[in-house]
Amino acid sequence: MFHLDGKVVIITGGTRGIGLETVRAFCEQNANVVLFGSKKETVEKAIEQLKMEGKEVTGYYPNLNDEAEIEQVIQKIYHMYGHIDILVNNAGISANKKIEDTTSEEFVNLMNINVNAMFLVTKAVVPYMKNQKEGVILNTSSMVSIYGQPTGVGYPTSKFAVNGMTKSLARELAPYQIRVNAVAPGVIETDMVASLPKEVIDPIIETIPLGKIGKPRDIANAFLFLSSPMASYITGVILQVDGAAHN
Ligand code: NAD
Repeated sequence: MFHLDGKVVIITGGTRGIGLETVRAFCEQNANVVLFGSKKETVEKAIEQLKMEGKEVTGYYPNLNDEAEIEQVIQKIYHMYGHIDILVNNAGISANKKIEDTTSEEFVNLMNINVNAMFLVTKAVVPYMKNQKEGVILNTSSMVSIYGQPTGVGYPTSKFAVNGMTKSLARELAPYQIRVNAVAPGVIETDMVASLPKEVIDPIIETIPLGKIGKPRDIANAFLFLSSPMASYITGVILQVDGAAHN
C-alpha cells in the first residue's frame, strides 16, 4: 500500500516507544530497517524482540553528538545497501522541571539530544540523498511545539527548533527532491509519558477533544504515509497527530 518495499530506513531512538513501533511498521512494509539506540544492550534487546516477532533489522548505537562516529555508521549503512532512502529522526528526551530547578547542563543536554543530534544525523545522510536525487527526512516534533508547556521549558524550546529545522531544510533540499517533514505527536502511550506524574498527565487528557491518549502506531502510521509516494508533494509540513489537543 505504501510502496516502501526494499527502501532503506534509518530510525533513531528505535529501541522503544514511538521509534520501536515505527521500526515494526516499516518492517511490515518490507523495508530494510536500521535502528539506532543509545546503548549496545538496548539495541540488542530491541533486535532480539523484533526477531521473536519475525522481523529482521540491523542496529547501531552511535553517539548522536559525535559527528565523526555518525558519519562512519551512515557510510557503513550506505555501503551495505547502496542507498539510503528514509531517515526518521526520532530520538528524544523530555523535561518537566521549573526553570529555577533546571540546570544549564540539563538544558544543554536536552538540546544536544533533541536538536543537535537531529542536525548531525541529517547532515550525514544528505550527501547520499543528494546524489540519489531523492530522499525523505522525517522528524519527531511534539504538540508542545505549537504552544509550549507549563514546565520543562527546554523540551518545547527544542521542539520549536525541530520545526524550524524541518521547514528550513524542506526549502534547502527541495531542489534535490528530498522531502523534509515532521510529525508532532500529542500525548502518546510510551515510557516517556508513563514517567510523567499523574497531575501532569490527567489535565492534559481532559484537553484532548478525541478524549484519549494516542498509540505509538498512530505516529508510526503518519511516518509511513509521509514516507510514501502518496505524500510526494508534501514537504515542510508539521503534521499534528494529537486528537486535536493543540487547539
Ligand atoms: P522513549 O523514551 O520511549 O524513547 C526515546 C528513544 O530515544 C529511545 O529509543 C532512546 O534510545 C532514544 N534516546 C534517548 N536519549 C538518547 C541519546 N542520548 N542517544 C541516543 N538515543 C537516545 O520516548 P518516546 O515517547 O517514544 O519518544 C520518541 C520521540 O517522540 C521523542 O522525540 C519525543 O520527544 C517525541 N514525543 C513523544 C510524545 C509522547 O507522548 N510519548 C509526545 C510528543 C513527542
